[in-house]
Amino acid sequence: MNGARIHITGIVQGVGFRPFVYNLAMRMGLRGWVRNTSAGVDIQVEADDSTLEAFACSLRESAPPLALIASLEVDPCPPNGFSTFEIIHSEPIPGAFQPISPDVSICDDCLRELFDPKDRRYRYPFINCTNCGPRFTIIQDIPYDRPQTTMAPFEMCDQCRSEYEDPRNRRFHAQPVACAECGPHVWLELGDMEIGVRRLGDRNDSPQLLTPNSQLLTPISHPANRDAILESRKLLVSGYIVAIKGLGGFHLACDATNPEAVAELRRRKLRADKPFALMMPGVETIARHCYLNDDERALLESPQRPIVLLQRRPESNIAAAVAPGQNTLGVMLPYTPLHYLLFSLDTDSHGFPRIENKKIRVHPCSSASHLSALVMTSGNLSEEPIATDNEEAHQRLSDLADAFLMHDREIHVRCDDSVIRVRSYELGVKNRVAQPLPPNSQPAIYPLRRSRGYAPYPIVLPRHTPPILAAGPELKNTFCLTKDRYAFISHHIGDLENYETLRAFEEGIEHYERLFRIEPEIIACDLHPDYLATRYAIDRAQNTNLPIYQIQHHHAHIAACMAEHGLTGDEPVIGVSFDGAGYGDDGAIWGGEFLLADYRGYHRFAHLAYTPLPGGDKAIKEPWRMALSWLHTAGIAWDDELPPGKYAKLQVGMWASEHPLTPNPQPLAPDSLLASLHLQLTTGLNAPPTSSIGRLFDAVSALTGVRQTVNYEAQAAIELEALADPDEMGGYQISIDNSPFINPAPIFHAIISDLRTGVNISAISARFHNGLARMVTEVALVMRREFGIHVVAFSGGVWQNMTLLYKSLTLLEKEGFEVLIHEKTPTNDGGLSLGQAMIAARQPV
Ligand SMILES: [Zn+2]
Ligand SMILES: [Zn+2]
Ligand SMILES: [Zn+2]
Repeated sequence: MNGARIHITGIVQGVGFRPFVYNLAMRMGLRGWVRNTSAGVDIQVEADDSTLEAFACSLRESAPPLALIASLEVDPCPPNGFSTFEIIHSEPIPGAFQPISPDVSICDDCLRELFDPKDRRYRYPFINCTNCGPRFTIIQDIPYDRPQTTMAPFEMCDQCRSEYEDPRNRRFHAQPVACAECGPHVWLELGDMEIGVRRLGDRNDSPQLLTPNSQLLTPISHPANRDAILESRKLLVSGYIVAIKGLGGFHLACDATNPEAVAELRRRKLRADKPFALMMPGVETIARHCYLNDDERALLESPQRPIVLLQRRPESNIAAAVAPGQNTLGVMLPYTPLHYLLFSLDTDSHGFPRIENKKIRVHPCSSASHLSALVMTSGNLSEEPIATDNEEAHQRLSDLADAFLMHDREIHVRCDDSVIRVRSYELGVKNRVAQPLPPNSQPAIYPLRRSRGYAPYPIVLPRHTPPILAAGPELKNTFCLTKDRYAFISHHIGDLENYETLRAFEEGIEHYERLFRIEPEIIACDLHPDYLATRYAIDRAQNTNLPIYQIQHHHAHIAACMAEHGLTGDEPVIGVSFDGAGYGDDGAIWGGEFLLADYRGYHRFAHLAYTPLPGGDKAIKEPWRMALSWLHTAGIAWDDELPPGKYAKLQVGMWASEHPLTPNPQPLAPDSLLASLHLQLTTGLNAPPTSSIGRLFDAVSALTGVRQTVNYEAQAAIELEALADPDEMGGYQISIDNSPFINPAPIFHAIISDLRTGVNISAISARFHNGLARMVTEVALVMRREFGIHVVAFSGGVWQNMTLLYKSLTLLEKEGFEVLIHEKTPTNDGGLSLGQAMIAARQPV
């Protein structure tokens, strides 16, 4: 008989790890104890050597689904003569820190109980266990214990408590455990009427039915919850917009197959074309609307339940207004019990729920009131942060929603849905063959927004890093805090363009610093002096006397990609940062950059030639201006018959008709708009130089007549990409001879000639993408010859363009390059803060 002390670090608290150890030890007949420590879990056991070995092996291999083991060390020790195996209570250690689990979707066991009429939590909208449910969004402080969560006001009933205290039970130490007796409830607010229970954690009152109408229905489970959900569903089916309180905030929901409802939601949300996310009850439904391969299916069904971008089937009856001009739909599965109940409230004569799930009997539903797809867009107006608080929702969403489906479990941290893409197929293959996944493998993901289900899961860094706060970018902000070998990248904060989002940013930083016990010793931020995140960082560094590093935007992009691939940075990479905009070290706006980069620094080897950005932000919102800028730079005369010229003329007319009250309207000279643009281009007045590939896409989109103005970021590029003909092999030549400038002028000559000879836009779009991919490969080959480096890292928002990504990857891999692309953090600015932290960590003090 030998003894062993086992020390485990990682995400091992609040994920059912101790009961897992307890049950494993019991099964194997081991004696000793398990306890939480400041940095993880400690175990002491005694047994013969081979049993100890098997035990350590099982700890690793069959750990609970939410656990992430960073390290597992076994030290021999003398046996102690234990008689049982116990879970020992441990006191929290001040200053200790623990990674925290993200929120996870309802697990299969809970889902089965939710629809089991014999279960005591039958149809209870807040059913959860150690393997599922809310975590990060309800935690106020550590250690992760009920009093430090927003479940604190709900005192467990005797039955819940006995499950909570039983190490053999699935709900052992599940902090949000609850039932209809003791836990939160839902209610529906519809004008002055309330349906359901509003208890707000006041556990002394018995639940009150404010507008009881349960006599109309067969009462099952808690009639009040049922009524509220059933009525919400009826409203949705009838075309109304309902605000639904979820896990990380409110959604605005409506029937996605109802064009009037979707149009009304767009009108109220002041959102012209930006796509809405969808929720569908099961993968069978999703497969009717979208092409779906096994990887995509696995990602949809993963515990993170992100929004997955899928290629839309032409025959889908989802309203066109859900994603205008796009050939993809963003779809997710239900992830809370409440979502499942919303989709499943019809029961057949046997009481079976009509819902698709691999574990639950499926009943095809033919009734007209069948709800097959909901728009589930974040509950906010335009670009404000998503609403989380009931009162806040009343104030901010009352003009947007017809009714509110509320609940009384508070959301402590706002957390938007994540948006992910699977990259497992070649573009252009119309009917893709599903590739079977090897067992236990995760699909290769390409995150576009990393938030609910992923944050605050840490990224494990290649090296030990001092405590750093990286403030992140202006748009799609996330911040990043590092400690030891962990980088905690925040949930999606949003665009730091208004007061509410700035507050969310500041509160988020405070919360993470407290939660993970991090006191930054170094501050990092963007080089752009006007970003609110930069100003926050500079103020903070001044007030605390900490060193601050302002980091070039595209350098940070490449460093983020290197870091998530575990590169130590001893060898530089060929960094290809294609982006919308980033402040350059020469004051220009960069975004088409080839950098020889490591964490310490970068050499700007080549970049897209500069062209003026006439009117700054105005040119970003109005791509026709970029088209004329590039034509001007390329020395091509503006032509009234080309789409941007035509549009400019039309605008002058519209301006006059929009201002009919102007006394004596001065008839504008038809050319004045173009004349002032020309002045900007020739003098550079209010027209900073830019090397942005994003703006090059805008120019081509406008020149080909796809988009002259946009109402959300990258719209012109997205719609241009959607048109690209997958079978077109031709490509426009781009000149790379005039180092370091990459001159795209030949593209414009070629496009105009193609337009004049009647080549269709799909072919032009494909030729443009093909030309860019060839240019990337040519420059990479030059850099390999010059520096002997064969690792290429892609980062920046333009790489969200899958056509460009796949074409470039294919060509580079054919040339023997190793290409790194983002897999854990977004390639857009959502991943930037990680790169800022990595670079700051390696700067000389
Ligand atoms: Zn569960
Ligand atoms: Zn209970
Ligand atoms: Zn960027």
